[in-house]
Amino acid sequence: MKAHDGMYIDGAWRPAAGPDVIEVVNPADERVIATVPAGTVEDVDAAVRAARAALPGWAATPPAERAARLAALRDGLVARRDEIAETVTAELGSPLKLSQTVHAGVPIAVTGSYAELAATYAFEERTGNSTVFHEPVGVVGAITPWNYPLHQIVAKTAPALAAGCTVVVKPAEDTPLVARLFARAVHEAGIPAGVFNLVTGLGPVAGQALAEHPGVDLLSFTGSTAVGRRIGAIATGMVKKVALELGGKSANVILPGADLARAVNVGVANVMSNSGQTCSAWTRMLVHRDQYDEAVELAAAAAAKYGDRIGPLVNAGQRERVRGYIEKGVAEGARLVAGGPDSPHERGYHVSPTVFADVTPEMTIAQEEIFGPVLSVLRYADEEDALRIANGTVYGLAGAVWAGDEAEAVAFARRMETGQVDINGGRFNPLAPFGGYKQSGVGRELGAHGLTEYLQTKSLQF
Ligand code: NAP
Ligand code: MG
Repeated sequence: MKAHDGMYIDGAWRPAAGPDVIEVVNPADERVIATVPAGTVEDVDAAVRAARAALPGWAATPPAERAARLAALRDGLVARRDEIAETVTAELGSPLKLSQTVHAGVPIAVTGSYAELAATYAFEERTGNSTVFHEPVGVVGAITPWNYPLHQIVAKTAPALAAGCTVVVKPAEDTPLVARLFARAVHEAGIPAGVFNLVTGLGPVAGQALAEHPGVDLLSFTGSTAVGRRIGAIATGMVKKVALELGGKSANVILPGADLARAVNVGVANVMSNSGQTCSAWTRMLVHRDQYDEAVELAAAAAAKYGDRIGPLVNAGQRERVRGYIEKGVAEGARLVAGGPDSPHERGYHVSPTVFADVTPEMTIAQEEIFGPVLSVLRYADEEDALRIANGTVYGLAGAVWAGDEAEAVAFARRMETGQVDINGGRFNPLAPFGGYKQSGVGRELGAHGLTEYLQTKSLQF
């Protein structure tokens, strides 16, 4: 057990204002592996003041120099790749291989993409008799979740720094260790004091203080819809800019001409990865009624193969929440064809890979975000029915379409109310805008679209 103290504020590790700590638990064995300070209103205030003080200097730093610091940060993350992976595995419970490829690999790619964008983006343009400057929004307050703990921090911090903003991050209480590691990498990359600050702490204390702080110009939040709605209202009420990345209930639509086995297998893998703790996971599989029984059989077999290959959920509360949804699915008449509510291990917050058949669109498990390894397979009669079901939730974050013909898949995808659609298994693209239609959120992350979130425009007329 390691007792960490200090929070990264104004370029140094400062002691916390209060005595409280957060225990970090390894969800695979339920042991306390570390403690970190539980930041208070005073710590948040110190961090926001540091970010404000650093803003004029960083905003005036030439983009090429900001790009060089981001490139150094990317190199630092590359050098710490193993340490990042081991840390995420310890505090989140993800299998080491996934931690290597995704939890370490994606933030490295995203940081690299913003090093490049900072160097190449047109921060100045001409229109008619005007010159338009794209200027940094100011001080960014970032509140992040535990599911992709480093990715969520980087998806906000890297574009903010590229834009010339300064940042205060409040990471999830379950995963503060990789956030501390990131702060060390920021320091080593030569990013000036106060440009990036880290306050570990509890959501309703440190998170709330950040959302309410008058020195924050933009609040960027990723997490649950309930919290996002609440703190979004606070920040909007203070006329701050707000970016929200909330939940999803994404549809994987398998049209009749598709390669059924491939679509089902990739679909199951998509849901089970990271133990289902992915906001963009395709948690609803939509299959034509003529292929339904075959698809259910394939999905059950694919899920059964996962067995021990997925890690536990992040904490006991999430496990209970997911079990509750599984029980609700059974109670509402869905048919369990793999997994179930029982825990497959004595220790650790595990839930078995679970597949439900005979799920109808109005069931709770077809409407609400479960955030666990649970797939619902739904039946549709024709394309219009599939579209109605796909669009029939409050969410619209991601999705997939599989068809024999790419043009057919694209035509369907264009009618989906959702921010991202993968066509016939298209790969994740760290440059593509990511974010939600409807209640999945406000704004976009990643790539050039993610950069513009952190910019505001000023036009000069000549
Ligand atoms: P959450 O409570 O919304 O947590 C997200 C972040 O917000 C964390 O840093 C959290 O701090 C902070 N927070 C919590 N209450 C706050 C408040 N009143 N003011 C300011 N910040 C606050 O999410 P969760 O409880 O960890 O997970 C619950 C559900 O949210 C999941 O089951 C899932 O459905 C959804 N979720 C979605 C995503 C996504 O990527 N869209 C990610 C995670 C969770 P603490 O860590 O201290 O709570
Ligand atoms: Mg929480």
